[in-house]
Amino acid sequence: MRPSALDPLFASVSTLNGVGPKVSTLLAGLVAPPGAEDGAKVRDLLFHLPSGVVDRRRREEIATAPEGVLATLEVRIDRFVMPSREARSQPARVMAQDATGEIALTYFRAQPQWLEKLFPLGETLLVSGKVEWFNGRPQMVHPDFVGTLEEALARPLIEPVYPMTAGLSGKVLRRGIDSALERLPALAEWIEPGVAGREAFPPFDAALRALHHPADPLDLDPAKPAYRRLAYDEFLAGQMALALARQRAKRQPGRVLGGDGGLRRKAEAALPFTLTDGQRGALTEIHADMARPDRMLRLLQGDVGAGKTVVALLAMAAAKESGAQSALLAPTEILARQHFAGLSRFCEAAGLTIVLLTGRDNGRVRAAKLEAIANGDMDIVVGTHALFQDDVAYHDLGLVVVDEQHRFGVHQRLALTRKGKAPDLLVMTATPIPRTLVLAAFGDMDVSRLYGKPAGRKPIATVAVPFDRLDEIVARAGRAIDEGDKLYWVCPLVEETENSDLTAAQERADVLRQFFGDRVGLVHGRMTGTEKDNAMADFKSGRTRIVVATTVIEVGVDVPDASIIVIEHAERFGLSQLHQLRGRVGRGDKASSCVLLYRAPLGETAKARLAVMRETEDGFRIAEEDLKLRGEGDLLGTRQSGLQSFRIADLEAHADLLEIARDDARLLLATDPKLESPRGEAVRALLYLFGKDDAIRLLRSG
Ligand code: ADP
Ligand code: MG
Repeated sequence: MRPSALDPLFASVSTLNGVGPKVSTLLAGLVAPPGAEDGAKVRDLLFHLPSGVVDRRRREEIATAPEGVLATLEVRIDRFVMPSREARSQPARVMAQDATGEIALTYFRAQPQWLEKLFPLGETLLVSGKVEWFNGRPQMVHPDFVGTLEEALARPLIEPVYPMTAGLSGKVLRRGIDSALERLPALAEWIEPGVAGREAFPPFDAALRALHHPADPLDLDPAKPAYRRLAYDEFLAGQMALALARQRAKRQPGRVLGGDGGLRRKAEAALPFTLTDGQRGALTEIHADMARPDRMLRLLQGDVGAGKTVVALLAMAAAKESGAQSALLAPTEILARQHFAGLSRFCEAAGLTIVLLTGRDNGRVRAAKLEAIANGDMDIVVGTHALFQDDVAYHDLGLVVVDEQHRFGVHQRLALTRKGKAPDLLVMTATPIPRTLVLAAFGDMDVSRLYGKPAGRKPIATVAVPFDRLDEIVARAGRAIDEGDKLYWVCPLVEETENSDLTAAQERADVLRQFFGDRVGLVHGRMTGTEKDNAMADFKSGRTRIVVATTVIEVGVDVPDASIIVIEHAERFGLSQLHQLRGRVGRGDKASSCVLLYRAPLGETAKARLAVMRETEDGFRIAEEDLKLRGEGDLLGTRQSGLQSFRIADLEAHADLLEIARDDARLLLATDPKLESPRGEAVRALLYLFGKDDAIRLLRSG
């Protein structure tokens, strides 16, 4: 049960002063966590932190006001420039001046009467907002504050400014937050006193008040104690939840998957190559984990083409040596099929049975496969999310391998491991996930890294070519396929749509067919599964020499003798995507090339991306550059990776706190495994506050 002290925080925002149904709906969109079904809570409003402050202590002058910073100006209202009837989408401008110059106060879709009332001509007013320079002239779009000098005096000199949504006024939002702050109870401290003292953390409620009523713009600095305190709270809640899950997992111990190495030796002997040192190193770590009674939770990071699949195969062979089944989960149908096809040969040689299960199986075929999985006839099950549907039962699932993890959410991973009795888990990814993010998302996950690539790989020559040299590229493609090469041609979209000028794969295939006839194949996301398979099989066998594809080929597709990839509209792809795509070639012993076909003119970021691609093939370096180029907002790629993101904490600014939170969570559970001490009780409240109630359920059922 949720502690009753928290009730006021879990009331709907509609119970707050000045928050009617319309504002409630706006707030649900603005502050409620994703997936919340019952709208925004008082808590959500309190966690909606200011993005900046208006500081009326410091006046600026128009000519010298710093760009992009919240500033307060004292200006005289001169005249209005209203849009004509025909140009209603144009903004209205209120022209104002001070001794140093003129500024436009710009309003979109504002009623003229409302503006005239707000800005009496000839009057001197204070306006606060962000000054921007547009076509060499200063403007302020939708000022955050407009008032007479007297009105300004009646308000705090420093006022927070919040991320907003259309239709909601800053005034209404601030009033709602003030009313929410009045409901904020003093809660028992959940932070360990030593940590709180060392960090000079204020209490939870004081921290929230400080951020919503800053006395100084610096109070909103992520490095200040109030902000850090709340970030720590969020981390601690997350790490407690992970620690509780781990504690429970330990209570149902994993199994010892030791094995005698016999099957592994057979499978390895069937490989047409010898393992790299990196692969051997990773396997040593994996086998050591599997042979221990606790559960394995290991991440295998290796650049595209590093050879992760073979590592999975040998781990699965080891599981079978102890009589356990393995499941290999792939993010797409194409990949699942490819894994199945690729692994089948070696499985046969080693005497392992393998089956493919995807969403496309149904009827008798599916029933027969399920039966074989349930009675243990199948040692390895390869497939898509179909692997963890309700009616799939395993005889004895001991090892789960997840390929290209970033495509899967955390709950999907859990759903699969629930199919076994505490199975070992191996997650494979080509995305170098920074350590902080691993810690935040998985708690303590062990990491194996596959450095380098199998011997004999040649570097991929990468060039960037403007689109007006398309003819030349087509001619080169022709020469290449005449000489027996295979070529991927990647386009961003499937069909030309009215509002998009992206080259459609369909259209590109038609054009190329005019030159190369039926040597051109096509794969895109809207084809049926069988159509896709056939197209890929044709390409693999060489019946087609060029395959025009959308980004369905991005992840993992392996046709080792394809040696050229042309990426059309390369400027529209992100760096990591370009890297993934390029990784489709350079997989065999042929020299390979990558043509980045772009449309000029290139923006700064696109230019930088293409330059990085030409400079390096190192996935870790590319991931770093990617973070830099993407900049704030999605710093660690949480959105792309599908991993958890935070409401308050900033993984970069607060990375040091994450480790403290992890240690603290562990320590608390070691002394108070059921969270029954006074501090344990306080931590329960913390878990509710941050929506980690499922972790509390773990406590109860244990
Ligand atoms: P990824 O790590 O991107 O999943 P794959 O497992 O698909 O890479 O391997 C890429 C290619 O390298 C495959 O064709 C695979 O057979 C081959 N390969 C894997 N390991 C080795 C090795 N030790 N020596 C030579 N080729 C290898
Ligand atoms: Mg792979």
